[in-house]
Amino acid sequence: MIMKDIKYDPDDLIAALATPWAESALAVIRTSGPECINKLAGVFSASDKLLIVPGNTVVYGHIVDGNTSLDEVMAAVYRAPKSYTGQESVEFFVHGSLPGIKKILELLFRSGFREASPGEFTFRAFLNQKMDLTRAEAVQEIISAKSNQAQSLALNRLSGSIEGSINSIKSDMTDLLASVEIQLDYPEDEVEMPDVTASETKPIEDKMNRLLSTYRAGKIYQEGVKVVLAGKTNAGKSSLFNLFLKEDRSIVSDIHGTTRDYLESWISIGGIPVRLFDTAGLRDADHPIEVEGIRRSNEIIDNAHVILYLADAQEGITPELTSFMTEYKDDKRCVYLWNKVDKAVVSAPEGFLPVSALTGEGFSTLEKMIKEIVFKDQYVPGNEPVIDSMRQKNLLESALDSINKYNDALKRGMPMDMAAVDLTDALHSLGEITGEVTSVDVLERMFSNFCVGK
Ligand code: GDP
Repeated sequence: MIMKDIKYDPDDLIAALATPWAESALAVIRTSGPECINKLAGVFSASDKLLIVPGNTVVYGHIVDGNTSLDEVMAAVYRAPKSYTGQESVEFFVHGSLPGIKKILELLFRSGFREASPGEFTFRAFLNQKMDLTRAEAVQEIISAKSNQAQSLALNRLSGSIEGSINSIKSDMTDLLASVEIQLDYPEDEVEMPDVTASETKPIEDKMNRLLSTYRAGKIYQEGVKVVLAGKTNAGKSSLFNLFLKEDRSIVSDIHGTTRDYLESWISIGGIPVRLFDTAGLRDADHPIEVEGIRRSNEIIDNAHVILYLADAQEGITPELTSFMTEYKDDKRCVYLWNKVDKAVVSAPEGFLPVSALTGEGFSTLEKMIKEIVFKDQYVPGNEPVIDSMRQKNLLESALDSINKYNDALKRGMPMDMAAVDLTDALHSLGEITGEVTSVDVLERMFSNFCVGK
């Protein structure tokens, strides 16, 4: 890999605060670079120890500016290549005082260190083959994870799960290319020709598609989905909204048209963050505010991932219900609820889930159904790796695209050596995912999104 001209010169001595810039019990100042321990001996009271201790040792001492102590600290010493960056590195555990941290950093910057750029420590780890690009991305994904699930998935990626999957796909691709080479190098009558047609690329494409589908599933856990409650006024939407929230936020009343605008709230259904909307009742209204409320409700319904349509079991099938069902015929997002089943005289018609927003009947089945719709035709994350990075997703798509082109070329009877170029392209895209072949630009863009000190 060519790493010339990179802003992040790995030969520089770098230092940065790895913990937040805030008053705290402790703070960590991280340093890394060739011969960094020698350099630090000049500002550390127990320099004799610092210089001779083996790696992974903690040394007690003072950070000193000439004869003045700046802080009493512990120094964790790492020797190359056994460190996060793969270089010599020292992490100082200092008191979390802002003036103290500032003084120490200034001293380090005067002593030959420069301030680390965002992600520069992880970048060095990547350069020193401590991790591939998918793991480096996982480091940042762990830090920015917003939910338990997202953090666990990122941790799984850090352990190399994506790298493993990509390497396995790459190895299949390499085998295929080898078969293509045989076709190119030997006349047909000399050796038995291996199959290099679409039937051979299919398993590879399947693996890629499976990995790609995890991207969408991962996004569901990270970004959440929209679920909307629809139905006539008084059908029980606000009551169901409250049941989901398990608190009284929406105004429940039996006067028609109370929920004029819409309410929304974040809830969690089986670990999926759900933005739940309680809309204005869908009925013909003439009050301008209500008309606007209904217009907005329709807009929310159009953008929802799941629509829960509530029918009032006491009223039975109404013209509004019939017209909604006609309009949304075959719309897989709809769940029809036969609400107030506790008071119902007619049992739920086929296709309706009997529920009671008052007693909670049918609620757990409803949650299950929502999850099913959300993950319809999609892989539900289990123990398998889940892709989170758009960069990785795009590269996988472009690898798939190249395989499609290859198959197309074969179908059109193009010469094998020309078709094979597409296979090489696919392999190249896969190599970019793990960082085997990645341009300096991409690397810089990627690491510049990291935190300083990481
Ligand atoms: P919305 O206009 O669709 O939001 O309906 P509300 O949630 O305000 O409910 C209208 C009325 O129906 C209120 O008096 C609720 O207490 C009542 N209600 C809602 N759900 C049920 C239910 O499952 N069973 C019974 N018996 N009453 C319900």
